Amino acid sequence: MIDNTDIQRAADWIRHADAIVIAAGAGMSVDSGLPDFRGTGGLWTSLLPAGMMERDVGSLTQGDCFAEKPVDAWRFYGRALQVCRQCSPHAGYAMLRRWAERTRHGAFVFTSNVDGHFQAAGYDESRVVECHGTLNFMQCGEPCSDGIWASGSLMDDVDVDALTRPALPRCPQCGHLARPNFLMFDDSHWVEKRTSAQWERLRIWLRPVQRPVVIELGAGTAVPSVRMFAESVRGPLIRINLDEIEVVGEGVGLRGTALQVLSALDATLARD
Ligand SMILES: [Zn+2]
Repeated sequence: MIDNTDIQRAADWIRHADAIVIAAGAGMSVDSGLPDFRGTGGLWTSLLPAGMMERDVGSLTQGDCFAEKPVDAWRFYGRALQVCRQCSPHAGYAMLRRWAERTRHGAFVFTSNVDGHFQAAGYDESRVVECHGTLNFMQCGEPCSDGIWASGSLMDDVDVDALTRPALPRCPQCGHLARPNFLMFDDSHWVEKRTSAQWERLRIWLRPVQRPVVIELGAGTAVPSVRMFAESVRGPLIRINLDEIEVVGEGVGLRGTALQVLSALDATLARD
């Protein structure tokens, strides 16, 4: 299992930090039963709408999918919205929050996940950067403006397998088809206004922070946005991952799922 010396070192950093920077990748969501919504992992198989094959998923992660295949795209992401709302964030979210409450500046979250689970777990909306956007906000597919609106209860009581073009969500300004405000691959239509504002809040929050500890969770190497961010913060890095846990510079790698390692850290922090 996890090396006890490494766990102790990580626990000491958390204990003495004045702020916790949480950098979360897809591995954080997986423990709640969610797939990586921008990825093409096999977890999709159980969520696919009727008639859709796993090989279809690749084309539905491309930026033009809402223009090219609007009905398929909405069946797919409508299902994704439903699944995100039905799943509850796992216990690791509350552990991190508890640790952060003991620090002077609290926590700030940087996540590539589009499921909104940090907010669902009670994290302050103004303390989250969603670097790839979110399923919980919509935008115009054109887009005709940089307007963004909350998804609200969109798709809650909809049979997504039976969706047809006239029933698809539309932009309230121009009537063009709407799409979720998250960044797909080769996506020139993404409205990044909300994410840019989140970045600005993170920069301001970091200024007075003296001794941050960075806790990176389940961040992949294929799209390294979260790893690159975690390494850019000046503070010891606790890298939690199933593999590729090496850390260059001050830090420690802890092998395991996010929930496994957070639980081990929580037990250590409670004991000493
Ligand atoms: Zn529009």
